[in-house]
Amino acid sequence: MTIQIPSPTDATEAVPIHGHWIDGRQVEVLVEHTGPVFDPSTGKVIARVPRGGAVEVDAAVSAARRAFPAWRDTPLIARSQVFFAYRDLVYRHREDLARLITRDHGKTFPDALGEVMRGLETIEYACGLPSHLAGLNTPNVATRVDAHTFRQPLGVAVAITPFNFPAMVPMWIYPIAMACGNTMVWKPSSHTPGATQLQAELWKQAGLPDGVFNIVYGGREAVAALLEHPDVDAIQFVGSTKVGRYVYETGTKNGKRVGAYTGAKNAMLVLPDADLDLAADAAVASGYGSAGERCMAQTLVIGVGGVADRLRPMIEERIARLRVGPGTEDGVDMGPIYSSEHRRTIIDWIDKGVAEGAELVVDGRPLHLSSSPEGYFLGPSLFDHVTPDMEICREEIFGPVLGIVRTGTYDEALELINGHQYGNGTAIFTMDGGAGRRFELEVDVPMIGINIPIPVPAGYLSFGGTRGSAFGDLKMRGEDGIRFFTQEKMVTVRWPEPGKREKLSLVFPGN
Ligand code: NAD
Repeated sequence: MTIQIPSPTDATEAVPIHGHWIDGRQVEVLVEHTGPVFDPSTGKVIARVPRGGAVEVDAAVSAARRAFPAWRDTPLIARSQVFFAYRDLVYRHREDLARLITRDHGKTFPDALGEVMRGLETIEYACGLPSHLAGLNTPNVATRVDAHTFRQPLGVAVAITPFNFPAMVPMWIYPIAMACGNTMVWKPSSHTPGATQLQAELWKQAGLPDGVFNIVYGGREAVAALLEHPDVDAIQFVGSTKVGRYVYETGTKNGKRVGAYTGAKNAMLVLPDADLDLAADAAVASGYGSAGERCMAQTLVIGVGGVADRLRPMIEERIARLRVGPGTEDGVDMGPIYSSEHRRTIIDWIDKGVAEGAELVVDGRPLHLSSSPEGYFLGPSLFDHVTPDMEICREEIFGPVLGIVRTGTYDEALELINGHQYGNGTAIFTMDGGAGRRFELEVDVPMIGINIPIPVPAGYLSFGGTRGSAFGDLKMRGEDGIRFFTQEKMVTVRWPEPGKREKLSLVFPGN
């Protein structure tokens, strides 16, 4: 199969339509059943995607259900060979994927490439599926009795994913689900269809049997149909807390296994002994990378014991050097916001911060790019003297807005992090090993960086937060991912030996 990457076109020209992907092929859709996809750097329509509902969901789930028995029974080595082929194709097409992400989402090309490479890590982990699925075997758990365990897939798995990582986040879900022997329906964000489509085409090229991997575009209606469909067994959702809570509550009520990995407001704590150049670089890279549209961005910098007086000018000086522009251009640090509506919401948050009394040190609102007047650009904004009672401290903004909070002590800073409604990632900047050790033991947030601003665990480890940042008992990827997408069976075996049978007994069996 040749891979066609649609090129951006003018709104007046015909634009490519990305159909649903069901049973190994793209489904033809009528243009009146589609919605526009905008290039955030120009504001122009560059593609169209269908709005799927119950009918399309049923077609995709039915295809996945039909493909399930054969995929489940495919020998593990044959299954893993498809994964090795896919890994190789994703690696070879990493720049194509990155270009499509940059076009649809707006993040810079190097950032998009970084996302593809972090997704690839989990695909590589999935290539080792025969080892990951190995069970335990324990002889002599009782007299002439042995035990063994093994893991089996659940059936049809669903991924519902956000706009901000069109490759990495799905690559953290579907390789694990399918490596375990499940078949898949992916409900991606409609904002970023280019890389979505290419992933489907690469699976086909890798030799994945038709029906194992399906895609349905859509919003509320498609998600509701997935949550209600009797043939869906497990769902992993990544997105906002409001939608994630609904997906978790509705999905579990309908008897499905659900994990939802949701919103965040991450804080990095800076102690007075920190390497401040490193901390300032970290704050700016983490706060403004991908225009702040990352769930692991540190959007609050908590300066302890007066360190903020020294850190703030260092952050300001770095912000002044940032270049905002189309993500396709060389030397650009920060691309546009992904949609004009979201840009408006971020501006409303900055207005609110000013009204709440935080000091707006750098104002990104007036930025205007004469070369891209219709693009959804916003400059980096910096607040100082943010306090825990302010909404801009409590709520996720998901944009290029960094806030400095000042505390007198480490304990006050820790209290702010541990008492926050979100708990996804956090970091500490210090040269004191004892303080770092204390922080990792005391902080109630699972993903922790020590002098690392974006502590996304390696692709073969699990990923997930706590409190309002995650719903469900297991994290995604890694060992938790394998557990999530399988049922473990525990078998207790006795092979009777002639002449050695125990007498009938009603006593609870022991050893
Ligand atoms: P979103 O919640 O708007 O959308 C996520 C998915 O849900 C999309 O597929 C979307 O089509 C669907 N959806 C949206 N509204 C819906 C509704 N009312 N009913 C049913 N389905 C609906 O999230 P987003 O704006 O695409 O992504 C940004 C959010 O995702 C941020 O809150 C960010 O923190 C979070 N996120 C979290 C992680 C994580 O691992 N914790 C990773 C990336 C992004």
